[in-house]
Amino acid sequence: MIVAIDGPAASGKGTLARRLAEHYRLPHLDTGLLYRAAARTLIDEGRRLDDVAAAVKAARGLALIDFDEVALRGREMGEAASVVAALPEVRAALVETQQRFAKRPGGAVLDGRDIGTVICPDATVKIFVTASPETRAQRRALELRSRGEPSNYAKVLGDILHRDRRDSSRSTAPLKPATDALILDTTDLDVEATFREALRLVETQLDAKDATQLRSAVP
Ligand code: C5P
Repeated sequence: MIVAIDGPAASGKGTLARRLAEHYRLPHLDTGLLYRAAARTLIDEGRRLDDVAAAVKAARGLALIDFDEVALRGREMGEAASVVAALPEVRAALVETQQRFAKRPGGAVLDGRDIGTVICPDATVKIFVTASPETRAQRRALELRSRGEPSNYAKVLGDILHRDRRDSSRSTAPLKPATDALILDTTDLDVEATFREALRLVETQLDAKDATQLRSAVP
């Protein structure tokens, strides 16, 4: 089973993807980390974020196992990742790694912006997680504070709106729900309620697929 979770920044998709992966005992790939790590490499090398050749080299050189998540999770790295992620060449360089991960025996859970639309168009279940920008900004501000990073609500909200705009308007793999994605609005849901509702969506989808397969097996 391949579970594709997409959505904008701070929608709760990462936490949800982790919970679903634990529940179904599937490996989980947070694909945002790939773009964050590529951006980090460029910054560490003192290069511009729009240096296509260096960005592709950084993307190709990534190893999935040794991400320093603490260093990659910060606010600035999210913004830098969004710039690098708008380069079609970088996206192309990362497609195979993600698809290989998804095709592990037994399946996988992947979360990002284009999993249901580009990386795994045939995913078993696609969930597009969303929430109002204000709710997402509150969550992100709390998260930053808990990590000791400065967090001004108005600034965080501005960053989120700016990143939404860039991610949704880029020419390659823009952030948008796949036509067959199930929409999960978490504005009024906490982590636990989001997980329960997602489980219900996954199970309903699996039941529907089973029924279709049974019907097509009838001679
Ligand atoms: O999800 P996260 O906030 O870690 O993603 C950082 C940035 O990486 C996003 O704003 C987006 O521009 C980019 N990204 C992407 N496609 C993905 C995952 C992340 O473009 N599948």
